[in-house]
Amino acid sequence: MSASIILKPEREKSLLRKHPWVFDGAILQVIGNAHMGATVDILSSEGTWLAKGAYSPHSQIRVRVWSFEKDTIIDNNFFKKRIQQALDKRQPWLDQKISNAYRLVAGESDGLPGITIDVYNRVVVMQVLSAGGEKHKNKLIDAIASFYPGHCIHERSDVDVRKKEGLALIVETHVGDLPSSVNIQEYNLNIKVDLLAGHKTGFYLDQRKNRQIVGQYAKGKDVLNCFSYTGTFGLHAMQYEAKSITHLDVSQNALDTSKENIKANPQLDNTTSVSHVKADVFEQLRKYKENGNKYDLIILDPPKFVENKRHLMQAARGYKDINRLACEILNPKGILVTFSCSGLMASDLFAKIVADAALDANTQLNIVERLHQDYDHMVSTAFPEGYYLKGLICIKT
Ligand code: SAH
Repeated sequence: MSASIILKPEREKSLLRKHPWVFDGAILQVIGNAHMGATVDILSSEGTWLAKGAYSPHSQIRVRVWSFEKDTIIDNNFFKKRIQQALDKRQPWLDQKISNAYRLVAGESDGLPGITIDVYNRVVVMQVLSAGGEKHKNKLIDAIASFYPGHCIHERSDVDVRKKEGLALIVETHVGDLPSSVNIQEYNLNIKVDLLAGHKTGFYLDQRKNRQIVGQYAKGKDVLNCFSYTGTFGLHAMQYEAKSITHLDVSQNALDTSKENIKANPQLDNTTSVSHVKADVFEQLRKYKENGNKYDLIILDPPKFVENKRHLMQAARGYKDINRLACEILNPKGILVTFSCSGLMASDLFAKIVADAALDANTQLNIVERLHQDYDHMVSTAFPEGYYLKGLICIKT
């Protein structure tokens, strides 16, 4: 007999709104043997059936919902159906052939909690962060293989949050042979994705559209690309004939990848003068300020500063610091493009931090565009937590 979870009184509200998480504090009673990844029925305190989900005994998110329909069975067909739905939602975008690399499944927003699936040309990379995903991994792999025959299927479940679920870190190729890197096309650019050590599942697909938007501001400008990683914001800026681009990153590996990506795009404007600087952005912006370096377009795309709520204030200080320094070294009428990819940083708070930074720098910034994660990283309205990447394009008065 399958196990059931009985919720405390009044704790069914989020499930009635189709939110897919049950926190440990909402549970009154567990009936039956709810082992790691087991499919459990979720019932209200009055015994009304609400949903079925995967049990995760070590996580604060104790159950992640697979389905709000009682007759759903978590079998091969279930995973095929979910992937088909995910593909259907993305089809209008896929038809535009903007890229051959895209997020196919964005976890909870695609009805597959804790599961990310990204496609990079002929390689599918999956990341499984939930006990339920782990338990049914073989079904998931079969389902992916049925939609992507002849593709390599690789797993990059090597992120620390797996430990919160009581899961070990795993990197494994399940189908085919994994090349060490793969070339993808983004708009008309050629980009090398490092499948072995690249961030996330290999690359920041979420910034795709933003890179193209920001490129359009770059014509004739001196561009400073902070936290440049693969240098892809810079490739777009070159495409739009930036005067110069300085890539700034603390990692030599990142800077080398950026250089390779420039070489891989010989069609790009070679009148742009490009430099790569290995430095800590916080320190280097201070140096630029002291030396009087000025830029027309500054991009700030830092890594996730907020890992949990306790880090929020510290992260806010970090964001404010780099945004203030950027304001100070921006020419009049210069453009600041500033991002936060921390889900815990609400977009209103982020805008407030940027406003405070401008104030401290004694400059006036005017927001001209608000940016967010690209189309394929879509956010279910029932799962607002899926919205994490926000950006502002501001012009300095
Ligand atoms: N803009 C990139 C993604 C940035 S990822 C893109 O579109 O692909 C974040 C990058 O910031 C990583 O390459 C990391 O090496 C770099 N980084 C992290 N902390 C840093 C710091 N304090 N100073 C400089 N670079 C840093």
